[in-house]
Amino acid sequence: MKISERIETEILDVEGLDAIIVTDPYNFRYLSGSDSEGALLLTRESLYLITDSRYTLAAKKAASPAGFQVIEYTAQKPLKKNIATILKSEGLSAVGYEDGNLTVSEFKKYTEVLNGLTLHPLGDKLDMMRAVKTKEEIICLEKAESIGDIAFKNILPYIKPGVTELELTARIEFEMKMNGAEGLSFDTIVASGINSAIPHHRPCEKKIEKGDFVTMDFGCIYHGYCSDMTRTVVVGKASDEQKKVYSTVLAAQLAGLNALKPGVSGAQVDAVARTIIDEAGYKGKFGHGLGHGVGLFIHEDPRLSPSERRLMKAGYIETVEPGIYIEGFGGVRIEDMCVVTEDGCRSLAHSSKELIEL
Ligand code: ZN
Ligand code: ZN
Repeated sequence: MKISERIETEILDVEGLDAIIVTDPYNFRYLSGSDSEGALLLTRESLYLITDSRYTLAAKKAASPAGFQVIEYTAQKPLKKNIATILKSEGLSAVGYEDGNLTVSEFKKYTEVLNGLTLHPLGDKLDMMRAVKTKEEIICLEKAESIGDIAFKNILPYIKPGVTELELTARIEFEMKMNGAEGLSFDTIVASGINSAIPHHRPCEKKIEKGDFVTMDFGCIYHGYCSDMTRTVVVGKASDEQKKVYSTVLAAQLAGLNALKPGVSGAQVDAVARTIIDEAGYKGKFGHGLGHGVGLFIHEDPRLSPSERRLMKAGYIETVEPGIYIEGFGGVRIEDMCVVTEDGCRSLAHSSKELIEL
């Protein structure tokens, strides 16, 4: 279905609106195909992309095929003024805006410029439009995740005592970019030894030592779409406790993958994996949610977490990433990005999840 039809039937009709203003950069890109800055104004009759001269040409190329008219705003006639002029000339008054994206000060400016119009918060409406991925989107996400697989295979020989976390981080990022990544989907995490007990550790000058867990969480962008994967290895021979922690996280991850299917809530999938970790004696050592959606943005809704009531649908992309983190000892996380299918899910990552001892 065309974007204009989806906006009309899924948003304008349902919310009783005449138009919506789109300011979130990921919704902007999703709807228009352009990654320029500015705003979209979508009405029942027309699609407008309002940007400045830095982006006008690129925006015309990217968004014209979807039916957008590109308007260049200037210092004399700024962005919000253009929006007000169009709304007034078309006689439109009920306007949706992205309350999840606009700052309080930006919202105030909109209310001043759009004086007299009714502004209606859209909540997660546009975000949830993005949740079910098309075949074309899944191809990009799968390609992005496969670049991560190649990078992981290529960096294994470099993980050895004496190498710093920062050096390993640079190596992972280099491998992703040399294999087709156009950028990173988030700051790469390399956490070794006791640092691996910090889920979002910032890589530092610490040298990798024999006996360390090394957790690597990394992702790239391919044609705008993000990837996300985590693997944990041991440098040297794993201790019995390291093996127990690793095998518990792996069992939880496999159980999570097994539970992920249409019709179950994010909370239900989270609970299946969390129970395995709790019952193995690590209750309280898995502080974050089990996973999150991925698409044009790295952390999308819906999530796999104890508070997620929304039900899974075929075409969702979710990560499944349980972990155990023990202060003073270290931690393990294993993460695959998956597509929810008609009867289950399919992992887009193919790197081995057996414990690798280097
Ligand atoms: Zn990750
Ligand atoms: Zn993740």
